[in-house]
Amino acid sequence: MSNVDLEQRVESLFDKQVEFLIRLVAAESTRGNEERAQKIMKNKMASDGARIDELKIDLDQIKHLPGFSPVLVDYKNMVNVIGNYGNTDGKGRSLILNGHIDVVPEGPLSGWTSHPYKPEVRDNKLFGRGTNDMKGGLTAKVFALKAIKEAGYKPNAPVYLQSVVEEECTGNGALACVAAGYKADAALIGEPFDEALVTAQVGVIWFQIKLSGKPVHAERATKGVNAVEAMLPVIAGYREMEKQWNSEKMNYPDFAQHQHPINLNVGEFHGGDWTSSVPAWAVLNLRIAIYPGDSLSERSRQIEKTLQNLIQENALVKKAKPVLVYHGFYGEGYTLPENTDAENELASAHEGIFNSPLKRIAVTAATDSRFFGIYQNTPALVYGPSGERIHAFDEYVDLDSLKNITKVYARFIQNWCGITEL
Ligand SMILES: [Zn+2]
Repeated sequence: MSNVDLEQRVESLFDKQVEFLIRLVAAESTRGNEERAQKIMKNKMASDGARIDELKIDLDQIKHLPGFSPVLVDYKNMVNVIGNYGNTDGKGRSLILNGHIDVVPEGPLSGWTSHPYKPEVRDNKLFGRGTNDMKGGLTAKVFALKAIKEAGYKPNAPVYLQSVVEEECTGNGALACVAAGYKADAALIGEPFDEALVTAQVGVIWFQIKLSGKPVHAERATKGVNAVEAMLPVIAGYREMEKQWNSEKMNYPDFAQHQHPINLNVGEFHGGDWTSSVPAWAVLNLRIAIYPGDSLSERSRQIEKTLQNLIQENALVKKAKPVLVYHGFYGEGYTLPENTDAENELASAHEGIFNSPLKRIAVTAATDSRFFGIYQNTPALVYGPSGERIHAFDEYVDLDSLKNITKVYARFIQNWCGITEL
């Protein structure tokens, strides 16, 4: 089969791909609500002839493993769906196609031009939460495999299409796939980094500071301990730590030229009960990046030390009895080894479709690639479509880009795994 045939298949299937993406986006899949979207993925892959595995996340199976992130939620309804494609006896190179089904919350609806879960096409862009991060990339995998099938072929090696949960908060979904024994000669993750290959990415740590105040009536506020106000020096203290970590960037070649590789995000704040009561409690959720190669335990020791120093230096913080909790991401950074066959094969597929060389980038976000790359020693390629405003209002995926990325995936699968007649 020529490359051209495969590209034409992708072209002629593309309306169906967009329809499928619209259905997938309409199935809101914020954390804990992934079931409906996973069912859509499952039915689609099954109808395309894949054998389906449903993998429940079992904490007992993963909590002792490197790469595990602590959680405060329960995993009752959280299931990874894996489509098994390809020729299990084939002599080609095997492949994991991984993508996450979970999306981040949409925020106030008033910020959206159209409803985040009623996807709308405007100007050849599809708008909605998760269109770009990363249900678009998931559909590209499904339809690249479908194009191969409709052409009368299948990959000549096992291909595992993993639709995982928990990417936006822990990575424990991908970790569960690793623990269950899925392994291949390469992994490809369709995160939306503008048609560029991610060669380095940061790690991420989530941590939570809880403060306890002393509530009194506001008329005698000076006698109380204000848990909300005590958080202000805590935020300032962690901003200083962020500055310090950024000043170390010269030690990390992938990020030495980056303007601000380490971002501390003051992500969530909750506290107080009543406008005329001095707040008895406050909780702050923070996210910070670490460099690839950094030790998680060393960086978390610095997070803890920063809090110890604040307790010593600030009487109000001390009175508020801070408690630090790790409540999510506890993930290392990852650097793709140079010049792997997988990267070269992807670069040639990309050039064949886009007629331009594949760009390489270092990103200040984390992806699930670390699980395959670090814990399975499998080259993990992060590469997906263009779009804008992930985690923001009016998120969109560019549909031309999505179509081209689907073609690149199809060609990559063809060349990496080889194909054999059905
Ligand atoms: Zn993502």
